[in-house]
Amino acid sequence: MHCPFCGTQDTKVIDSRLVNDGASVRRRRECTDCKERFTTFETAELVMPRVIKSDGTREPFNEDKLRSGLLRALEKRPVSLEAIEQAIQNVKSSLRATGDREVTSQLIGALVMDNLKALDKVAYIRFASVYRAFEDIREFGEEIARLND
Ligand SMILES: [Zn+2]
Repeated sequence: MHCPFCGTQDTKVIDSRLVNDGASVRRRRECTDCKERFTTFETAELVMPRVIKSDGTREPFNEDKLRSGLLRALEKRPVSLEAIEQAIQNVKSSLRATGDREVTSQLIGALVMDNLKALDKVAYIRFASVYRAFEDIREFGEEIARLND
């Protein structure tokens, strides 16, 4: 793989380990030329179900969209990037485990909420308040109260 810093074609792997419960390989690489180091993740590309949006239209599953939703909810929260990647993998495996060729965007939202709830409660509330568009303040209060269970 080419060096992202200087473009040299020769980089070497200096460390390699399994992450995300063995679903990915994380590699540290070093450029033989400029000596900069960088990280790559290798994950099997599996077919994801298509997404049925609330208006009934379909779109391809978009991992970047999922990631930016999570990052937005987790902004300035004490959660590592690796934990976020793990949450993304969890959501993806749950979606594949449905065995369906199409899944609703509501299901994705619910899976994201499950994962956020385990990661960080503030992020969970942020995400839930946008995603669920709480009907009124009372409903929002009940959701917060349930977190203490
Ligand atoms: Zn380089």
